[in-house]
Amino acid sequence: MRNQSECKRLYLSTLNISQLRVYNGAYGKLNGGLGSSYQTNFYPKMMKRSPHNKTAATAIDHVTAFISQLHTVPAHYCRQDTKRQYLEDHFQTKIQLYNAYKEQCLTDNVEPVSMKKVVDVFKKFDISFHCPKKDQCAKCRLIYLTLKQRDLSEEEELEFLMHLIEKWIFRIQKKEKIASVLGDKKMMYIEQDMQGNVISPDSDIGLFWYMSRINNFNFTSYIHGWNKVVCVLWHEGLSGKDGVTMASARLQMLEYSLKLNSECIDLQLDGDGCAAQNRNQKESAAEVFFLENGDHNLQTITVSYGIPGHSPVQNVDQVHSIIDRVLKGRDLHSPLDFYTKLVNHCSPKFNKFHVIRLKQEHFLDFNQLSSQMWFKGFRFGDMKVIQYRKGDRNLYYKLHHGQDDWFMHRYQEDSFEIPKELPPLREIDFNIIPQQKQRNVEQCYAYIPLRDQIFFKEMFSVNDNRRIALRIAEGF
Ligand SMILES: [Zn+2]
Repeated sequence: MRNQSECKRLYLSTLNISQLRVYNGAYGKLNGGLGSSYQTNFYPKMMKRSPHNKTAATAIDHVTAFISQLHTVPAHYCRQDTKRQYLEDHFQTKIQLYNAYKEQCLTDNVEPVSMKKVVDVFKKFDISFHCPKKDQCAKCRLIYLTLKQRDLSEEEELEFLMHLIEKWIFRIQKKEKIASVLGDKKMMYIEQDMQGNVISPDSDIGLFWYMSRINNFNFTSYIHGWNKVVCVLWHEGLSGKDGVTMASARLQMLEYSLKLNSECIDLQLDGDGCAAQNRNQKESAAEVFFLENGDHNLQTITVSYGIPGHSPVQNVDQVHSIIDRVLKGRDLHSPLDFYTKLVNHCSPKFNKFHVIRLKQEHFLDFNQLSSQMWFKGFRFGDMKVIQYRKGDRNLYYKLHHGQDDWFMHRYQEDSFEIPKELPPLREIDFNIIPQQKQRNVEQCYAYIPLRDQIFFKEMFSVNDNRRIALRIAEGF
């Protein structure tokens, strides 16, 4: 990139910006969106004392049963505490949770306990109300919280400035990439990210809200220069968001994109960064596999990880808000219905989306290939840019977006042949929906069209076959 070192010099000179500016930055003015929302909910409210009434154990059991039934979703993107689950949007406050509980009590003909009791039980679960918002940067947030208590040390101040500089460089490089793909087919620039969980069947009927149902997944890409949106869809009845699934979804997207532009030599991919080591290894394997074997003229694939919380993938974010609006206030009957709604939608800005439904035969077993690649000491979490070069058994990487030269990591011997074909996943590697969830969905049949009922019946029958296959594999 031609202007890179100039930009770097320009922004390094901002190291001289005043301390006040840094603090303003931390309070949100430079970072968009932090600040005010943080201030309002910052101080924990004082707990009210409640009288020492004894609540019958059965009532508490009822509360426990109610909460364990709620539909929860994993965090949108993988941070440290991946085990934590979040309630879906219908529940944003304790009062909403309590109202749903009271409704359940009416149905079950049970006397409701107090809100405090319900909240106490709720706290024992590893569940939170809010899914962390995408536009919150962990680093900026930490700085903000620190500044509430004390001044930053010199070291912290420098680290935070580097963070801001990194963000600026990333943005400038992004603009350069967008400019270079216009009128030059030799380069392609694609943004990509997962959409937050979409649940089906879904409706405004209260019955739906507090039952766990089927998660739908959407891996969205935006191809700059072509103004093309590609959505790869799958659902929980097939798999979750593990590495092999993500790698398989990515392969579908790559195949489509390079068919669109077969002249491309240099492919640039931007993502929202911060994925787990294991998942990245599978994705790496997918990129190497595609680079060596795909039907295209590619010489390099360069993956840049943006700074999470500073909207590194703005176009994809826009597509996701469009999809949110398409779904808002409408029933979503099934994963099939989700697909139909996306295929039929025509956005004024992006036109029609190209939608790919991930099928069982699209899944390739990247485990073996990724285990043959040497990742020891190569920490994906530290990487800002990784480049794959055709015929080269090194990974090239940068630890900062402003870094000029590449570092190198050898992942295999030069003589290592990337397999031409990968085995498909076995039947037992796919997901099986828990019985309770299946029963919940079946309860919704009365409210959904026949077409979607048939879709679910088919999904559950495939599930039954997988259960049998699993039992055979385990030797029962
Ligand atoms: Zn930040």
